[in-house]
Amino acid sequence: MNLLIMGPPGAGKGTQAEKLIKQLDITHISTGDMFRNAIKEGTEMGKKAKEFIDQGNLVPDEVVVGMVKDRLSQSDCEKGFLLDGFPRTLDQAKALDQTLASLGIKLDGVVNISVPREKLMERLTGRRICRDCGASFHVIFNKPKEEGKCDSCGGELYQRSDDNEESVGKRLDVYTQETQPLIDYYKEKGLLADINGDQEITSVLNDILAALKK
Ligand code: ADP
Ligand code: AMP
Repeated sequence: MNLLIMGPPGAGKGTQAEKLIKQLDITHISTGDMFRNAIKEGTEMGKKAKEFIDQGNLVPDEVVVGMVKDRLSQSDCEKGFLLDGFPRTLDQAKALDQTLASLGIKLDGVVNISVPREKLMERLTGRRICRDCGASFHVIFNKPKEEGKCDSCGGELYQRSDDNEESVGKRLDVYTQETQPLIDYYKEKGLLADINGDQEITSVLNDILAALKK
């Protein structure tokens, strides 16, 4: 199965992606995780991307599109993939269509998670991420079993440098302007599954799995 997961920052894409890839045995491709790894490794691309990311802006399309194209060509995507955080602009969506066509891959579905905007700030400023595996936790809504430690791999939890109020505000505006229009793009293609993300994590997962079976 080849899937996209969409929704505003903080909707729960990463949280659901972790569970979906295990259940469906597909490869998780998160462009945000790819950039954070590039920053950690100190690559040229990571250095360039960091400026955009910290200000809550999007990394330019040409950088992201090239990175995703390379990633989709790797053999672990043959069993199916879940793209998380890409595409985020109409130009990225069109570039993805071209890339998939050139690789002979069909998209099977697009999961769109909706959460009221007023809840997203609290989700994002309380988010904690594992330094090693990228798993997402929350200081109130999704506490790790042991404070500061990842349930999955035991790695150290930290707060993303862009999960502060100023950057989150900017990211939510960028989402509304650049990414939200993609909902109609995929609706028109008949691929969209709309999911209520304002409920318990397991209920969101069950709704996604049920929608994918239809
Ligand atoms: P995204 O990848 O869409 O930006 P995350 O999956 O990282 O979002 O989730 C954002 C924050 O909200 C995290 O701290 C996560 O633990 C928390 N979260 C995710 N799903 C829910 C939910 N259904 N209810 C409450 N909090 C949630
Ligand atoms: P995320 O982990 O999905 O919240 O992404 C973190 C940041 O990485 C975003 O705020 C952007 O600056 C950058 N980013 C991730 N994916 C993309 C994308 N598809 N296009 C542009 N920028 C992106």
